Amino acid sequence: MSQSFEGPRYLVSFGPKRVPHCFTDVLILGGGLAGLRAALAVDPRLSVTVVTKDDLQSSSSQWAQGGIAGVVDPEDRFDNHVADTLTAGCGLCHGDVVDAVVREAPGRIAELIAWGTRFDERDGALELGREGGHSHHRIVHALGDATGREVMRAVIEQARTLDNLSVWPDTFTIDLLTHESVCRGALVWNPKHGKTFVWARRTILATGGAGQLYRESTNPPGSSGDGMALAWRAGAVLRDMEFMQFHPTVLYIAGGARSLITEAVRGAGAHLVDRDGRRFMPEFDSRGELAPRDVVSRAITVVMHRTHHANVFLDLSHLDPDTVRRRFPGMAAICGKFGLDLARDRIPVRPGAHYMIGGVSVDSAGRTSIPGLFAAGEVTSSGLHGANRLASNSLLEGLVYGARAGEAASAEVLAEVPQVGEEFRVPPIEESPAVVDQGNGTDASMLDLADIRNSLRSVMWRHVGVERTGESLAEALATVEGWCRYVLPRQFADPQGWQLQNMLEVARLMIRGAIDRAETRGVHFRADRPETSDAWRAHIAWQRGESMPHLERLA
Ligand SMILES: Cc1cc2nc3c(=O)[nH]c(=O)nc-3n(C[C@H](O)[C@H](O)[C@H](O)COP(=O)(O)OP(=O)(O)OC[C@H]3O[C@@H](n4cnc5c(N)ncnc54)[C@H](O)[C@@H]3O)c2cc1C
Repeated sequence: MSQSFEGPRYLVSFGPKRVPHCFTDVLILGGGLAGLRAALAVDPRLSVTVVTKDDLQSSSSQWAQGGIAGVVDPEDRFDNHVADTLTAGCGLCHGDVVDAVVREAPGRIAELIAWGTRFDERDGALELGREGGHSHHRIVHALGDATGREVMRAVIEQARTLDNLSVWPDTFTIDLLTHESVCRGALVWNPKHGKTFVWARRTILATGGAGQLYRESTNPPGSSGDGMALAWRAGAVLRDMEFMQFHPTVLYIAGGARSLITEAVRGAGAHLVDRDGRRFMPEFDSRGELAPRDVVSRAITVVMHRTHHANVFLDLSHLDPDTVRRRFPGMAAICGKFGLDLARDRIPVRPGAHYMIGGVSVDSAGRTSIPGLFAAGEVTSSGLHGANRLASNSLLEGLVYGARAGEAASAEVLAEVPQVGEEFRVPPIEESPAVVDQGNGTDASMLDLADIRNSLRSVMWRHVGVERTGESLAEALATVEGWCRYVLPRQFADPQGWQLQNMLEVARLMIRGAIDRAETRGVHFRADRPETSDAWRAHIAWQRGESMPHLERLA
């Protein structure tokens, strides 16, 4: 394999004397559920700054539909939720992490209720949904299929009560600042003030996932893998980057947004049928439509090939139409915009990139491998999801690890600063070296960034999608490396360029991981290596500067 081109440490050059400086005790990058939960856990005597590149209304957390998993039904058991999570994770979950997160779930859900979240109820009790891979009804949901909107409303309102919190919207984090391998904060940019150094005693990365690397995706535009790329440039260990979960049922209407159709629709009894109206899931798995997502996504891909059709269909016509419309009002409205009746018509769907399982490696308190840097939520690899995330376990992970990272960061600051409010010592950061120019005459302004971005998303969809082969991955890597060579050394002036650079960096880490993992496991399906191998019961972990990834074997 040819040597990978290593881009510069910082995406932009800067002179410390020319850039304004700000100070905060705890800096949180990302204003989704993980970031805000972290903010709520910081000691009120410490200052907290939350930076988000858009606004608090624009995260994946806001878009979440189905709900949050937790054992709240007396008939259910922690052991059942643990077993379901381990089964979905295909041998790569950390048992201790799963056990602890599952046991923490009811408390975290109760906390949300105490902060004003109105989960759906039936007969005075929480109404519990069931999704693929779950053996019991255990998903709390809100507003039918708009759980994220309601949870975030309550969490944002709670965060607004904090006197120690400042939120900086429309502020893009370009890079983490490190000095002597310790994270000291971040370099951020916004259209009003340009670049700013934000010096922090502790930094928490909560920048979410990377679904936008794929042409077909359920994720909001901001899920471009920025956090993984900037952690990589700063030297953090990243792992399991080959594991991108594809949601099996994404609405597929030409010209329409790729809206996710929640798993709960299948939980409520919807069938998946091919173009001829034949139900096909029982042929692939005894759990039918409620098999784990990787199994359903793969089955749909096979049926699409078999029937030479661009999609399959969800069929709810055998269910009570009033119940369908009451339970899934958001989805019924979206379908309605395209002249489709969710309760009666066949709804065209196909898989789309949905959830990034791999990411920045963290311990049980959310500490990364870089001192001073914590991480929480979808940007991380915590050991909870293994090789396949169980539905509705990710909002839960954001709550649990957000709280832990906030508490641990806060405790570290308090232990180190005897006098709260003590003056901040800025590390002697040097002028960043000018970003390298390859001298091939391609000025940054001459590049059609949208074209490269679209091409990247198509390559990832075609070659690094639901089904992969060594050959197609090698082709994807060569193409992406080619783009990296002339895009990474450029210096851009705004987020469009930085985001593309981040996407390229993350794409090649994902492809490298997918090439290295010469087996099929969970969401990673290698058509040329269909077996799961015990030798690969390991994380593929990698750090900038290492020529090769290393394996972290599981006991
Ligand atoms: C359509 C959809 C439905 C889903 N349904 C469910 C569900 O029912 N249950 C479930 O458990 N999970 C669900 N998920 C997954 C879940 O929503 C996410 O995994 C979770 O919300 C991630 O939370 P987070 O806080 O880690 O990241 P996010 O909520 O994505 O927040 C990331 C934040 O980081 C900011 N950010 C990113 N890059 C930068 C940068 N460079 N500079 C500054 N800020 C930056 C963003 O602006 C944003 O504020 C769903 C996801 C989608 C897309």
